[in-house]
Amino acid sequence: MTRRFQGDRLLVATHNKGKLEEIAALLEPFGVSVVGGAEMDLPEPVEDGTSFVENARIKAHAAARATGLPALSDDSGIEIDALGGAPGVYTADWAETETGRDFVMAMTRTHDKLLASGTPEPWTARFCCTLVLAWPDGRDEVFPGVMPGRVVWPMRGDQGHGYDPIFMPEGYNITFGEMDRWEKNRISHRADAFRKFVAGCFG
Ligand code: IMP
Repeated sequence: MTRRFQGDRLLVATHNKGKLEEIAALLEPFGVSVVGGAEMDLPEPVEDGTSFVENARIKAHAAARATGLPALSDDSGIEIDALGGAPGVYTADWAETETGRDFVMAMTRTHDKLLASGTPEPWTARFCCTLVLAWPDGRDEVFPGVMPGRVVWPMRGDQGHGYDPIFMPEGYNITFGEMDRWEKNRISHRADAFRKFVAGCFG
C-alpha cells in the first residue's frame, strides 16, 4: 500500500533546474513546495546500483537521510533488446568523454554495436524512468515508467536530448528527436512514472 504524501515540502534529489521546475509545477496543485538538491547542499552519492531502481533508491535515501525531508529521485535510460538490455543504467556513461558528454558518439556507438550483433531490425527498445520517494524513516515507494519503441538509424530530429534522435516510440513514425516537446512530455517514460507517483501519493 502506497503511503500518501501528507507534508508540504518535498526534496527533489536533483541539481537539474529544468527537472526541478517541471516537478514543482506538477505538485503545485497539491499544495506541495519543492526544494532542490543544490539549495540543500546535498551529498552526491556514488550511483553504483545495477538497476534503475537501485540507483534511484541510493539517491533518494541519501537525500532523505541528510535532510530529514521526504526525497524524490529518478534514474532513467534506454534498454535495447538486441544488446541484452544495454546500455540500461549505463546510458549516460556511454556518452562520457574526457571533455563532457557526447551523445552523437553514444548513438553511433549504439548503432555500431547493433550492427555487430547481427540482429535484424526492428531493434526493439524501451526508455525507462524509475522514480523513488524515500521517507526519512527509511521506507520508500517505487514508481516505474516505460515507453516502448525501437532504435532507428540514421539519427533524426533536433528536439529533445540524449538518445532522442534514434528512438522511435511505439505507435509513431517519427523519433523523439522529431517530436514536439509537449507531445513527448505527454507520452514519455517520465510522464508514465510521474502519473503513477501522483496517483499513488496524492490521488
Ligand atoms: P540520468 O537518469 O540522469 O542518470 O540519465 C540517464 C541518461 O538516459 C541520460 O543521460 C540520457 O542519455 C538518457 N535518457 C533518459 N531519458 C531520456 C529521454 O527522454 N530522451 C533521451 N535520452 C534519455
